[in-house]
Amino acid sequence: TATLLRVEDLRVEFHTRDGIAKAVNGASFSVESGETLAIVGESGSGKSVTSQAIMGILESPPARIAGGEVLFHNVDLLKLGKERARRVRGNHVAMVFQDALSALNPVWTVGFQLSELFRQHRGMSKKDAMARSLELLDLVKIPAAAQRLKEYPHQFSGGMRQRVMIAMALALDPDLLIADEPTTALDVTVQAQIMRLLKEIQIERHMGLILITHDLGVVADVADKISVMYAGRIVEQAPVLETFATPAHPYTKALLKSIPRLDTKGQRLEIIKGLPPVLTNLPPGCNFAPRCAYAQEICTRELPVLATVAADRAAACHFSSEVIQDV
Ligand code: SF4
Ligand code: MG
Repeated sequence: TATLLRVEDLRVEFHTRDGIAKAVNGASFSVESGETLAIVGESGSGKSVTSQAIMGILESPPARIAGGEVLFHNVDLLKLGKERARRVRGNHVAMVFQDALSALNPVWTVGFQLSELFRQHRGMSKKDAMARSLELLDLVKIPAAAQRLKEYPHQFSGGMRQRVMIAMALALDPDLLIADEPTTALDVTVQAQIMRLLKEIQIERHMGLILITHDLGVVADVADKISVMYAGRIVEQAPVLETFATPAHPYTKALLKSIPRLDTKGQRLEIIKGLPPVLTNLPPGCNFAPRCAYAQEICTRELPVLATVAADRAAACHFSSEVIQDV
């Protein structure tokens, strides 16, 4: 069977007053059915832009896809006509955003918004569409679902609203779900519940899931593999367990040290000092060098490319073999 989604050497540029910002600078990764890929990085690392390129929702201009392929079931969505690509995405790829309130329409009830999806895309009758909407709210474990169908988005708590978003994303039975910071706005307990729900549904439906997050902490229990992005490039790519046990890139290592842990309560977290580079004016050499504890002279001259460091593992660092052993 063909890979569900394969992104090859994706490049996205933003035309700004200060010049061209290479927001995504050659990203390659894949997701299989039933698999979860976490794309992790700070804001501005290119993770959201990558997901927007997959979804075809980049704002262009200023954004421009400067190269690469987005192969969905082996068909390059970037080369399909606009209308055909839109149809493929509409039927097979769905997205959950961070801010459910702005993604839902405030003037319609949740039941109306859900049932409209079935009426428009599946040609269902009003009654059947409402029945399917009820099933969906049950699926995402919203209590008293029949009553809640009649309510408006603002009547839901943040966590419940995010469940409504997930229900809407699942309505047309996508093969691939992209969740961009789906729990960032929620408190920690609710975050965990939502992530568990997403994971359960994903397993049940054998969907591919791409989880975009700045928080490595939410990744551990959910993702199978991880792509760490820094300044528009993937700097580490590996199965999640290996990444957590022995990170191969200094940036991943630093991110891991900044995760709050219950067992080290009170201990000060190490934050990564300094700022990411300005994307319109990338330095020669490694983009992480100014912030890197492992940097040597070569790092400021030669750009490290993503290279195999172990089975299934790749990192873009001149010293990854040292980093991986330095526990
Ligand atoms: Fe640090 Fe050098 Fe590796 Fe870049 S290449 S991450 S600067 S050690
Ligand atoms: Mg973002």
